[in-house]
Amino acid sequence: MYEQIKLPYDEGALAPVINKETVETHYGKHHATYTTNLNAAIEKAGIDPAKPIEDVLADLDSISDPATRTAVLNNGGGFYNHNVYFEQLKAPSEGNAPTGKIKDAIDAEFGSFDAFKEKMSALAVSQFGSGWAWLSADKDGKLYLSQSANQENPITKKTGHKPLLTIDVWEHAYYLDYKNLRAKYVDEIWKLIDWDVVNKRYA
Ligand code: MN
Repeated sequence: MYEQIKLPYDEGALAPVINKETVETHYGKHHATYTTNLNAAIEKAGIDPAKPIEDVLADLDSISDPATRTAVLNNGGGFYNHNVYFEQLKAPSEGNAPTGKIKDAIDAEFGSFDAFKEKMSALAVSQFGSGWAWLSADKDGKLYLSQSANQENPITKKTGHKPLLTIDVWEHAYYLDYKNLRAKYVDEIWKLIDWDVVNKRYA
């Protein structure tokens, strides 16, 4: 049985960057529905519900029925991606920036936090339609950026990659707060990133 992470903050804690109503809908409705539908799809696929979701997503080709495979991809991605997203947020702070090992790795790979932020923001803003922007580590621990459509992610049909940080750019993530201004939402979300969580993922 797959379970949503418990939010490590109150639903109103991300305001005014992301307001309570968005968290209530996004976490309480969208994420909850992905989780319910994932559990149904996993049962239909005959997969052991104790199997780590990362392994399920890496191994989608083992699901023979195409409709069930699509249901596991869409709802498994929706389940996993939102766990990554919600877990890495915290109450807003001005000048919020990476610390520790992830700071050093970002500086080494991208030159500076500002240069990195600009690149990842551009991927988030330019993702056509619904999707995500990602910072991940590859098999050798090297950092890289990517974007994905719908509920795909850097571990769909792949192993050895570790997603570290993500930005949800589905309209449900920002429309109540920013309407059509995705770039404004992406600019603001940097105030919410809990770099301690990102450091733990990177370790
Ligand atoms: Mn979402």
